[in-house]
Amino acid sequence: MSKPTFPAASILGYPRIGPNRELKKALESHWAARTDEATLHAAARELQNANLAKLTGLGLGADDASLPGDFAYYDQVLDATVALSALPARFADLADAAGAIDTAASFVLARGDESRAPLEMTKWFDTNYHYLVPEIGEATPLKANAAALVESFTAHAANGNTIRPTLVGPISYLLLAKAEDGAPAGFDPLVRIDEVVAAYGEILAALAAAGAPWVQLDEPALVTDRGAALAVAGELAETVYSKLAAATTRPALLVTLGYGTAGDVARPGATQGLLARAGVEAVHVDLVRGAVPAAEFLGELAGSTLVAGIVDSRNIWRNDLAASLGILTALRTEVEKVGGTLAVGTATSLQHVPHDVALESDLPAHLPAWLAFANQKVAEVITLATGLAAGESAIAAQLSAAETAIVHRAGFAGTTVAAVRERLSNLTTADFSRSEAPARKAAQELALALPPLPTTTIGSFPQTTEVRTARAAHRAGTLDDAAYDGFLKDEIARVVELQERLGLDVLVHGEAERNDMVQYFAENFDGFSETENGWVQSYGSRATRPSILWGDVSRPAAFTVPWITHAASLTTKPLKGMLTGPVTILAWSFIRDDQPLSISANQVALALRDEIADLQDAGIGIIQVDEPALRELLPLRATEQAKYLGWSVDSFRLATSGAADATQIHTHLCYSEFGEIIEAIDALDADVTSIEAARSRMEVTADLTRFGYGRGIGPGVYDIHSPRVPSTEEVAELIDIALGSLDPKALWINPDCGLKTRGYAETEASLANLVSAAVAARATL
Ligand code: GLN
Ligand code: ZN
Repeated sequence: MSKPTFPAASILGYPRIGPNRELKKALESHWAARTDEATLHAAARELQNANLAKLTGLGLGADDASLPGDFAYYDQVLDATVALSALPARFADLADAAGAIDTAASFVLARGDESRAPLEMTKWFDTNYHYLVPEIGEATPLKANAAALVESFTAHAANGNTIRPTLVGPISYLLLAKAEDGAPAGFDPLVRIDEVVAAYGEILAALAAAGAPWVQLDEPALVTDRGAALAVAGELAETVYSKLAAATTRPALLVTLGYGTAGDVARPGATQGLLARAGVEAVHVDLVRGAVPAAEFLGELAGSTLVAGIVDSRNIWRNDLAASLGILTALRTEVEKVGGTLAVGTATSLQHVPHDVALESDLPAHLPAWLAFANQKVAEVITLATGLAAGESAIAAQLSAAETAIVHRAGFAGTTVAAVRERLSNLTTADFSRSEAPARKAAQELALALPPLPTTTIGSFPQTTEVRTARAAHRAGTLDDAAYDGFLKDEIARVVELQERLGLDVLVHGEAERNDMVQYFAENFDGFSETENGWVQSYGSRATRPSILWGDVSRPAAFTVPWITHAASLTTKPLKGMLTGPVTILAWSFIRDDQPLSISANQVALALRDEIADLQDAGIGIIQVDEPALRELLPLRATEQAKYLGWSVDSFRLATSGAADATQIHTHLCYSEFGEIIEAIDALDADVTSIEAARSRMEVTADLTRFGYGRGIGPGVYDIHSPRVPSTEEVAELIDIALGSLDPKALWINPDCGLKTRGYAETEASLANLVSAAVAARATL
């Protein structure tokens, strides 16, 4: 029996947030009880219909399953939990009579309620998207609940759109899960794979009955070390997909393998081959982060489609169509030799890029032509499929437009700035290191005269409505520079006065002038631009607007110095200046793809180094360089991690090592487990490191001690993620735990992170308790 052929052009998924953040608005007004569920559903359906109209307008077929069916109210992994009715025991009451979960119940899983914490949220591979972690135990229900998938397919079909229902695949689902609390020690959710596969079989049958010709199962976990070892080397992928493929009534299957090279990286294409052998009709390969399949592994493809993910879905640059067409043409020759078909697609879902460059009216004139957001990428996929089918001449205009943009970008004045290049090429190893830590310590003790267990905060103070309103008014031009300047100086004075009243030892200016800890720096550096509507979903209804790093980076003038020195002038206590580190600035921006990341990182580092020199000259004795995203860019494969940690640590050292011995350099890390990169944290060589620790009850302190970490350390003693005020006793307990393993002379007392999302009431109460716990602990030393 011959396999059905997958459409020649498709995308793996489309942004869900909406070009004007329609989904965000609909969700948030529903959660605030301003709209009922029917209104939410209607708004979501309207957005999906508009998206599908856009996609068919761009040229994706309405009736051949090339339209993505990946819509999710909150998160695609949550939707798989819903499709499996996989309710953890603490949420068991959310199931309906049939044991299934509806939309309202799924929001409780996502957001928790008065009595229950929500599902944990964690990073989706090496992206800034966060998914809700399934909690699977020995008895967690795992039964098919295809209602939402079927309803969505049917409703769109009635509208003339054949979507391709999309679900996280069974292997990835369990690899992304964690053991439910109370499961036996060492319980591995993967032991329940047979039940998950059985449920997926039922879901596929239900979708076939509804008329779905194709279903997409995403198996990105096969590009991780663990996924590759278990699923490929361990033959799990073949077992699972042979079972799913064996069903007599089911839709054709597309299995996607985005975010890297699947399976053994030395055998690119082998995983695709084995899936095809198992009976899967179409398999995908990520040609942006992953490798081109080797010809020797394509033999299994006979009769199957290879979907070539050649259009980058993680970054916003225009595709080099000529180069892509070359790769596709060569690959097609190999695929056709073995009786397969080649189709064109994206590297992953387009959920990681904004909707449309056409929504930007404020970019510098040179930039729009260099860019491709989701809609432009859809057009690129279609163009490449057309070129593949009908030859270069069929897409001559597009090829030439792409070529023009690429040549313009390469030759543009800001792309390569001689002065920046020269400064980089003159760096020597001395520029990456400070003097030995003990000498610094002695100089800093003399300069700062701090008490033991010094108290401080991580930088930002609550961003009140007044702060946001003033910033917006200044942006809109209704508040002039002088008035805004005066507003910020008053705000700084208030924050300084508050910290003195609370008795904190090292003060901060509060960061009221910053909209965002990365965008603020991007706005003040050359080489970056900001978008107006370039929103990308971060989690649930939350979206961020990454800046675009397009050119060589430099700092035209000092910009943090006026605010920080103003704060310092209002107190006799040490004032800590705040900067964002190079890795974090890159991690939360769209970055250039025409040079190694390490070069961009060092350029940003030099710009920061200039700012640090100016702060130091202005008398600021403590400077914190935040690197909360240090762990975020860590490559998925262990073999690539050392190289990343090497250049990322170097860029931090380049930024900070111009500081004098007496200047105390702090850094701050959060959002991740840091246990596995302690060596890199140590190599940053900061004098003091503050690190998120309250929720894990200071777990990291033991790791640090085991490693022999020898410099200042401030494990967070106050979880700032909720409005809850920790009591003095709770803080004291955490300080005690820290003192159990750390040298009291090295310990700092601080919250887990910045306070900008908190209100003043809880902030004041919490900091008061933090200070009194620190003072009490100090007395016992
Ligand atoms: N200095 C920043 C702040 O306090 C750090 C934020 C962060 O680590 N995410 O807001
Ligand atoms: Zn933080």
